[in-house]
Amino acid sequence: MKTNTFNGIKARLGGISRRDFMKYCSIMASSMGLSTGVAPQIAEAIADPAKRPPVIWLHGQECTGCTETLLRPSHPTLDALILDIISLDYHETLNVGAGHQAEAALQQSMKENAGKYVLVIEGAIPVKDNGIYCMIGGKTFLSMVEEAAAGAAAIIAIGSCAAWGGIPSADPNPTGATSAPVVLKGKTVVTIPGCPPNPYNFLSTVVYFLTFGKLPEIDEQGRPKFAYGRLIHENCERRPHFDAGRFAEKFGDDGHRQGWCLYKLGCKGPVTHANCPEILFNDVGGGTWPVGTGHPCFGCTEKGVGFNIPMFTQAEIQNPTPSAFKAPITADHPSPLTIQGAGLAGAAVGAIVGASAIAMKNLGSSSSSSDQSSKED
Ligand code: SF4
Repeated sequence: MKTNTFNGIKARLGGISRRDFMKYCSIMASSMGLSTGVAPQIAEAIADPAKRPPVIWLHGQECTGCTETLLRPSHPTLDALILDIISLDYHETLNVGAGHQAEAALQQSMKENAGKYVLVIEGAIPVKDNGIYCMIGGKTFLSMVEEAAAGAAAIIAIGSCAAWGGIPSADPNPTGATSAPVVLKGKTVVTIPGCPPNPYNFLSTVVYFLTFGKLPEIDEQGRPKFAYGRLIHENCERRPHFDAGRFAEKFGDDGHRQGWCLYKLGCKGPVTHANCPEILFNDVGGGTWPVGTGHPCFGCTEKGVGFNIPMFTQAEIQNPTPSAFKAPITADHPSPLTIQGAGLAGAAVGAIVGASAIAMKNLGSSSSSSDQSSKED
């Protein structure tokens, strides 16, 4: 990477060292399931300000939690990176301007950047009665999404509401709320579901697009496979308890307090695809996630599960083979499962991604000490 290019990103990101930046890019490659050999390519793409894609970010029926999760990490590198590698031309929460001024900026960006901008949709889209249940600047959100999508180079539906309807679409769904992929049928829409979604998954998707000029491989629901390719149940830290037949029966009972499996409390981890256990949320104390704090997963990243299947029901077990990467537990009573043996070869991928995510979060803290000791810069 050219020194001038690196100096630019060093200034923008608050003094990160070249070594830590390259380490970050290697980790980013690993977390996307790519060879670390593409790290220099990622570094060039992130560091080059000329490559910053214009982004138009629309809000529909939602709580703004997706935006909040991007902007409120305790670690400053993440939001700095996101806001640095994109040119955020329109965002209804973050716009400085308001009213006609903001709407004029949106129209100008769509016109000047036709075919080049990334459209990010946050929130469900109400379609009942021609979309009158969500109006912005006198226009229906439905028409705004259709208009902005027509000139977009890439479309990302962030959060469960945009990805599959989320809470606004829950029964009886009085506004006819639906998802971006349904409204934009026929177009490729990358979905980053989660309530809220993990900001690292959004960042990785954008970095992939920046680096390779195309979107990452997605599953049948539009989710990037590098982030949503595995079931939560496969990599959950409580999985050894599940395999040993140790379950919390009630909130606050001995099993719950000892960190046993939450399956009998309605955990939907066995039917939900996401990398929550590996990538975690919040940086305080190394990160956490709902199951880690004692709450069953409610399946927010899975269409038809989160907000649709009640917590008091129990999920169907799809993959009963114990993980080869979790130390087994010897229980006083036998496991309810009889299928033992072969481990999950793919769990290795999950382990790498998890380690990568934690390392990414730790980079900032290591960068200050590394800045002092490194002679490179
Ligand atoms: S059922 Fe839930 S708590 Fe238990 S191991 Fe699976 S994901 Fe973890």
